[in-house]
Amino acid sequence: MKLQLQHALEQVLARNPGEREFHQAVTEVFESLGPVLDRNPHYVDAAVLERLCEPERQIIFRVPWVDDSGHVRINRGFRVEFNSALGPYKGGLRFHPSVYLGIVKFLGFEQVFKNSLTDMPIGGGKGGSDFDPRGRSNGEVMRFCQSFMTELYRHIGEHTDVPAGDIGVGGREIGYLFGQYKRITNRYESGVITGKGVTWGGSLVRTEATGYGTVLFAERMLATRGLSFDGMRVVVSGSGNVAIHAIEKAQALGAHVVACSDSRGYVVDEKGIDLDVLRQVRDVERKPVSAYVDSRPGAHYVADARVWQVDAQVALPCATQNELDERDAKRMVDAGLLAVAEGANMPTTPEAVALLQDAGVLYAPGKAANAGGVATSALEMQQNATRDSWSFEHTEERLAGIMARIHDRCAETAEEYGHPGNYVLGANIAGFTKVADAMLALGVV
Ligand code: GLU
Repeated sequence: MKLQLQHALEQVLARNPGEREFHQAVTEVFESLGPVLDRNPHYVDAAVLERLCEPERQIIFRVPWVDDSGHVRINRGFRVEFNSALGPYKGGLRFHPSVYLGIVKFLGFEQVFKNSLTDMPIGGGKGGSDFDPRGRSNGEVMRFCQSFMTELYRHIGEHTDVPAGDIGVGGREIGYLFGQYKRITNRYESGVITGKGVTWGGSLVRTEATGYGTVLFAERMLATRGLSFDGMRVVVSGSGNVAIHAIEKAQALGAHVVACSDSRGYVVDEKGIDLDVLRQVRDVERKPVSAYVDSRPGAHYVADARVWQVDAQVALPCATQNELDERDAKRMVDAGLLAVAEGANMPTTPEAVALLQDAGVLYAPGKAANAGGVATSALEMQQNATRDSWSFEHTEERLAGIMARIHDRCAETAEEYGHPGNYVLGANIAGFTKVADAMLALGVV
């Protein structure tokens, strides 16, 4: 990295002490941008990169609520409105005990680049809480969501900031959040939040979009080497919404998906993951993934271990950040890994990414590969703005077109900058350029 860039990076890291994940995300982007800044000194003069690393607004708030036994509980809520050069802040809410400002900022920062890559008019933001929905009753989740929205509502709006789901926030939570927003404001402002149910302003394909999009991206990436999903042995981490729909699309393309996981362990099913069983266990019964083996003779469960122990040609990390490290990557490369596409945000550690790239494994970073989720959120906003609802086929076609364009732009940009096949570089440069040009046009704001 050039000295000037290195100095700017050090300043950003020093200004945000202790935020490990944010440091990781920012460092990766800085490592990609040297050649762009060389070609465009006006970005440097206008301090675009330094401005981009400082969120426009960061909101931290108390979320008090009452549990089923009458005890008052306190959680912390966050919304980081990172960049609005391209449109209203857009990005999900994560409810998970690990959430703190550094996680929300890394996710918000990634979201700025991801949203830029979709070519939709959306800026980047992220939010969430350290609330753990696991083991909580519906009533508790509802009261928490209502309290969370009682503060958040004053900061959001269809032209201001548009939240959605992320880990721990699915259709149920979006319903409670939207219901409270509607009640407080007395406005049926559908475009204020995405991931809504299809009967009350949601978009078909939104639920499927992140997982489907990741596989569509991977399919196009595999095609650059004359490969396809047909007959490929695939391992997926996670068993939530993203993982389930990645499995569904990969299977539809002929892949043999043999394993998936949760934070406690993984299941292997050599006959191929049965999605009906997985959905029943995870979505309906809300049980750990280990319960899958109770209904699938021949499948087995491994506790306290990572799914990357299972050999595969394609790995789809769809769980959480830093879940695939250098050791996992090395083991999988030795066992014949050909491609990795990230359904989750930053699931592969920097050391593992370097190892994969050195080994010639196709590697698609989350900000490109999983952008189908937020892109379909933007399609939901479009439908809300015109009071329309599109068919599944039409919406899926739009998603497929968007994923193909993101793939091609990343690939072309990597090639243009002399690193063909480097999707990290391609995604960072292409994502950055569009936001940077908009920021220049809008002046020092
Ligand atoms: N949380 C998702 C992401 O990481 C979706 C955000 C959205 O739809 O706004 O991109």
